[in-house]
Amino acid sequence: MKKLRILAAGVLAGCLALTACGQSGSPGASAPVVSETAEANVTVAGSPTFDAMKARDGVVVGVKDDQPGLGFKDATTGQYSGFDIEIARLVAAKLGFGADKITYKTVPSAAREDTIARGEVDYYVGTYTINDNRKKLVSFAGPYFVAGQSLLVRADDSTITGKDTLKGKKVCSVTGSTPIQRVREQGLTDQIVEFQTYTQCVDQLLSNQVDAVTTDDAILKGYAAQQPDKLKVVGETFSQEPYGIGLNKDDAALRNKINDILQASYEDGTWQKIYDETLGKSGSPASPPAIQRY
Ligand code: GLU
Repeated sequence: MKKLRILAAGVLAGCLALTACGQSGSPGASAPVVSETAEANVTVAGSPTFDAMKARDGVVVGVKDDQPGLGFKDATTGQYSGFDIEIARLVAAKLGFGADKITYKTVPSAAREDTIARGEVDYYVGTYTINDNRKKLVSFAGPYFVAGQSLLVRADDSTITGKDTLKGKKVCSVTGSTPIQRVREQGLTDQIVEFQTYTQCVDQLLSNQVDAVTTDDAILKGYAAQQPDKLKVVGETFSQEPYGIGLNKDDAALRNKINDILQASYEDGTWQKIYDETLGKSGSPASPPAIQRY
């Protein structure tokens, strides 16, 4: 736990120095898959986070901005797109905030718990695996999707075919992520290269600095779909990564409300529509998982 804190602090110091991460931005006039109008007269009794949103008349959503198909910011138009972004928008609308009231804040994996705990985002939607360690620091609505750890390699590589073929290979992943932890715990290779974003790992792979990138299949398929002649996803998935919406640990009222919003979207077909139009395009068919209320 202490190590996690130190790492997170390091990431934040890096962000401040470089101003390269944690950027906020307005959404621009992107076209959402599901045009949700802001719900009127929403109340969430006993939620300090919701009270703060109402007071500022806006939502701050933590996201990733470099994961195609999931959370992606177009560098030219400034528009955000992807499955996670659509889920974030749906939740905002059902809480009473239209797309014009959302501010996106890019938060890398290693900084998520601290950023949420400090109240710098109202909620976080960005390939964020629900697990017990993280539940000590934040809470989760969902899951709204279940991914699995996989491997991305260069298209012409035939030597890496699954997790048991990584010995002696250089494997890149992201600081503070569950996949990098799993590579270490399972001793899959002793050559682990670590960055703040998966895009940095993919760049390393393309320039032959590393042999594989490991993280969730949903993320890796997005990169492979962008450059199918250069990249491929290989092997069976070797974990379950249930994605949750990260929230302040003590705000049970907001967690319950967001779980209700997700449940309704599972039942009325909205979730399916969002999935099919985003992640479903580079992934496989999927249906919504069961919400885990606690
Ligand atoms: N789902 C994994 C995690 O939450 C990997 C993806 C990510 O780093 O966002 O650690």
